[in-house]
Amino acid sequence: MINRRKFIQASALGSMSFAFNKESGCKSKLTPLKGKPLVISTWDAGLRANKAAWEVLKNGGKAIDAVEKGVMVTEAEQNCCVGLGANPDRDGFVTLDACIMDENFNCGSVAFLERIKHPISVARRVMEKTPHVMLVGIGAQQFAVAEGFPLEEQKLSPDAQKSYDNWLKNSTYKPPAINIESKQGHGPFAPYKLDNGEWNHDTIGMVAMDINGNLSGSCTTSGAGFKMRGRIGDSPIIGAGLFVDNEIGACTATGQGEDVIRIAGSHTVVELMRQGFLPEEACKKAIERIVKIKGDKAKDIQVAFLAVNKRGEVGAFAIHKGFSYAIKNGEKEELVKSKSLME
Ligand code: ASP
Repeated sequence: MINRRKFIQASALGSMSFAFNKESGCKSKLTPLKGKPLVISTWDAGLRANKAAWEVLKNGGKAIDAVEKGVMVTEAEQNCCVGLGANPDRDGFVTLDACIMDENFNCGSVAFLERIKHPISVARRVMEKTPHVMLVGIGAQQFAVAEGFPLEEQKLSPDAQKSYDNWLKNSTYKPPAINIESKQGHGPFAPYKLDNGEWNHDTIGMVAMDINGNLSGSCTTSGAGFKMRGRIGDSPIIGAGLFVDNEIGACTATGQGEDVIRIAGSHTVVELMRQGFLPEEACKKAIERIVKIKGDKAKDIQVAFLAVNKRGEVGAFAIHKGFSYAIKNGEKEELVKSKSLME
């Protein structure tokens, strides 16, 4: 039986930022990277979002403000996949999911939110102004309106209307199949493969480290285009689409949300970093876990993780090639191609 003294020693060690580096075989302290802010985010939209986050970070602002401001850019863009301009569900309504988490395990989330332009900011209000973590549907909308967020018109963007009309032509209304069809507009889940072989993608996940070495993250999405009404993916779920542990690191996910939820993906990656794995190794291990579960079906889905540890080391890994992430710090601003298990 573990005696009290040993137990106290063990707990003290556990609470320190030590990690065992599997590669080098030595214990290394995850020294916070202070004075060198950094922001990373998923896909190429991340380049534009990172610029807004950087405006906050370069002036010594907090990571939590940076990750909110950053993804607001994407929410406001008329793209297929994030914000009110995005593709609708099968009934023709755009429903949005988002979450945010700071360096003190404070977190807020909204899901199945309609007619609100910036779900990430509503998620932040949930975090700051309610005793709850998550509000969904009409309740989330009522809260947003009470907080002064304008209720936007219920209208599809011209692009979304076009792809919805297109989808209706080719699709019968039925619950989604387990796997993904690979033709544009048919996939019940996202990201599905476009006819040109690229992945369509529906989310921006962002993680930032501020000048004080504190970490925060945000994640916002319209979910999967033409999803079943009421479907919620990983993106608003703390531990799945996003997780931040300020002692260890942070991670965000994109891809087929159901399979990210199944392994509590972002939390798993952070826990692997706690064990000493570098961010890329940790992301790879989580991807391998999903692929093991899915077996043959893994060839039809895309999932990617993007992580940073407390030392400011960044890494990502995806099931399929085609995932990229944007990185910005004092020295560079670029889009990086992630490694993947499959071509
Ligand atoms: N993870 C999102 C979801 O399942 C979709 C995506 O990232 O493309 O809702």
